[in-house]
Amino acid sequence: MFELTERLKKLPPYLFKEIDQKKRDLQAKGVDIIDLGIGDPDLPTPPKIVKEMIRAVQDPENHQYPSYSGSDDFKGAVADWYQERFSVTLDAESEVISLIGAKEGIAHIHLAFINPGDLALIPTPAYPVYNIGTLFADGMPYFVPLLKENGFLPDLNSIPEEAATKAKMIWLNYPNNPTAAVADRDFFEAVVAFAHKYDIMVCNDLTYSEIAFDGYRPMSLLQIEGAKDIGIEFHSLSKSFNMTGWRIGFAVGNKEAIEGLGSVKSNLDSGVFQAIQSAGLVGLRKNREIIREIQEIYAKRRDIMVTGLRDAGFIVDTPKATFYLWVPVPPPYTSASLATKLLTDAGVVVTPGNGFGSPGEGYLRLTLTQEEKRLLEATERIKGVGL
Ligand SMILES: *Cc1c(COP(=O)(O)O)cnc(C)c1O
Repeated sequence: MFELTERLKKLPPYLFKEIDQKKRDLQAKGVDIIDLGIGDPDLPTPPKIVKEMIRAVQDPENHQYPSYSGSDDFKGAVADWYQERFSVTLDAESEVISLIGAKEGIAHIHLAFINPGDLALIPTPAYPVYNIGTLFADGMPYFVPLLKENGFLPDLNSIPEEAATKAKMIWLNYPNNPTAAVADRDFFEAVVAFAHKYDIMVCNDLTYSEIAFDGYRPMSLLQIEGAKDIGIEFHSLSKSFNMTGWRIGFAVGNKEAIEGLGSVKSNLDSGVFQAIQSAGLVGLRKNREIIREIQEIYAKRRDIMVTGLRDAGFIVDTPKATFYLWVPVPPPYTSASLATKLLTDAGVVVTPGNGFGSPGEGYLRLTLTQEEKRLLEATERIKGVGL
């Protein structure tokens, strides 16, 4: 009866339907499924943050509409955290905005800066929202493949002059979901030069900045000189503090970019529940212990999984960051055929890499969001299947 808009009809097909169905069928038969498919931390939100939420939710001052751009306290905590963590100075009033999760800001910024037909440079494989946000604004994605030979970084030199000239924005995400790749200072410097040359807004998704191992500390785009002229950075408390259900994140950087995003938000939503901002800023202000603990847990899980998969015959790199493993699929399998086999024969759910974009074909994404003993069990089962 109701006709969906072209906007929705343009959305890429959902590739995991078959696997989702098979998973449900097996579960209905009583099969014990180990799900390494979802990027959602299994660990609870730290008690300090929960405790502040309990206090804040009882304070009537928090029961009214929040400021759409975030409370002064929250924005101040973000600016202080940037100073401490990245040595980047931000003006809390004009260079910080709270978000209802990073996803919300990532989706909405396109409505502020993409006109119908405008080009956005989108990495592939990638978190789907960069592309979807572009499509919802009637923009045109120009896909830049992330290839192993380039360390899963976009090759800026491969972008044709015509596309670069037409592009309004470029999306980046390091540490990267799904490839677990990281980017160094040289790369970010090249990006800033590229953006200045072609007058392009750089949208950097830094959601995984705190999920890093062995002393590695991911950097902010804004640490590069001149980055604030062209860059906006998206952050989330979801992954750093196990808060995916709470819906809180923020964006920082270029004033006009923040202001444009704020205009969209002030007309579409009314900001983040103040009690959640209060709780979130406890994470930002008292995070050393919390983050160290989370990093140690994922590092141990990573080592268990990498060792187990190597024993099973896979060639796996040890990631420096994120809670993902990006695992090459050995012949004769495809991403889909191996994912199906692992589900059917081992009861282990993994995500076929091509679900994140066609250059992801030939890979599987495995998440580390299960307890050690379940991960060990998963590797034992995978070994049992044989390649
Ligand atoms: C999880 C994730 C997000 C979304 O974070 P929220 O703050 O929960 O909306 C954004 N980008 C990437 C790459 C992610 O993996």
